[in-house]
Amino acid sequence: MERHGYERSDNLNDADVVVINSCSVTENSDKKAISLIKRIKSKNPLCIVALAGCFSQAFPERAKQLPADIICGTFSKSEIADKVDSFVKAGERLVEIPPCKECRVYENEQLSDMHKTRAFIKIEDGCDRFCSYCIIPYARGPVRSRLIEDIVKETRFQVEHSHKEMVLVGINLSRYGADIGLGLADAVEAVCSVEGVQRVRLSSLEPELISVSDIERMAAQEKLCPHFHLSLQSGCEATLKRMNRHYTPDEYFDIVTQLRRCFPYCAITTDVMVGFAGETDEEFEQSCEFVKKVGFSGVHVFTYSVREGTAASRRTDFVPADIAAKRYAVMNKIAAELKSDFFSASVGKTEKVLIQRRESENYANGLTTTYIPVRIYGSDAQKQDILAVRIIGAEGGDYCIAEEISRE
Ligand code: SF4
Repeated sequence: MERHGYERSDNLNDADVVVINSCSVTENSDKKAISLIKRIKSKNPLCIVALAGCFSQAFPERAKQLPADIICGTFSKSEIADKVDSFVKAGERLVEIPPCKECRVYENEQLSDMHKTRAFIKIEDGCDRFCSYCIIPYARGPVRSRLIEDIVKETRFQVEHSHKEMVLVGINLSRYGADIGLGLADAVEAVCSVEGVQRVRLSSLEPELISVSDIERMAAQEKLCPHFHLSLQSGCEATLKRMNRHYTPDEYFDIVTQLRRCFPYCAITTDVMVGFAGETDEEFEQSCEFVKKVGFSGVHVFTYSVREGTAASRRTDFVPADIAAKRYAVMNKIAAELKSDFFSASVGKTEKVLIQRRESENYANGLTTTYIPVRIYGSDAQKQDILAVRIIGAEGGDYCIAEEISRE
């Protein structure tokens, strides 16, 4: 937009153009996008509203009913400025939402410095797993992988903009390369080899798609953070089957074992859903036991919510909300205990910390390679510094306290 001469406005009521990149992962996300469009148009009727993203892609008929001037989906987002220009010239409503299954090539985004401590580098789009509760494959289309040369180009750009940690992200990151004859380890090696990169982290991974050879190749990369967010969803085989997840708890555990073999001090974090359709007390109990058995260092717990348009939305055996809420509390308690155990077990270890911010004169905040938030008292370290520290204390599962050993 800036390249087309637009300037950023911080005030919705003054803006001439608002672009909404909608999320559709839950029905609540849809509602937020819908109410935002209506609010803008009622307060600022002359404002040009462009709606893009997953909501309009997954539910085009509903999106077309909204008072937005430009509606597109998850593709051609980089052409939004052109679309706004045409709307300004012609004044005609523009609706272009090609079916996502037609998109077979990775759409390269423009490079931009996001002003964050860590650079998030998208390397993959789309998903072909069709978990029964998830709308994403309908909104994002098939797997498309970014070419290595483009990934390297963006990594260099981020290094030039002072980023030291690169976080590789994708809709289904583990499927990176499936469409271009490569694997995730190829992308990791390429990013690690860029001069100036000091550490690399992977975002969420689908467990069954990580091969042992990928793990072994990645373990040879010293810059790769030993932190793996392996999506679990449930630790019960029957529930996983209904979710159309493509692994059993035993297979999941094998992957964890391989990761721990190759990365002896590593953090394994995950997402767990409670109250999925048909989940019995016994199944929930199995899920709890499995979570304890793996000993995750962090668990994002959430309650199943019905997503229109998915296979699971047609089920009739939904778990009552009060039972789901109780299960949420139980699983969260387990998660908090495990996190606290992991933080306590890290006391005495030396770690590298990337400083993210200073909240007080007295200490700097940062993240270890294993994703532990730490406070370093008495340090004058600033954002983007990387410090070698010794962890000297843990405040439950909130954060650890560390002392500085040296600075890079
Ligand atoms: S793997 Fe992830 S993105 Fe793909 S369908 Fe399943 S939950 Fe959705």
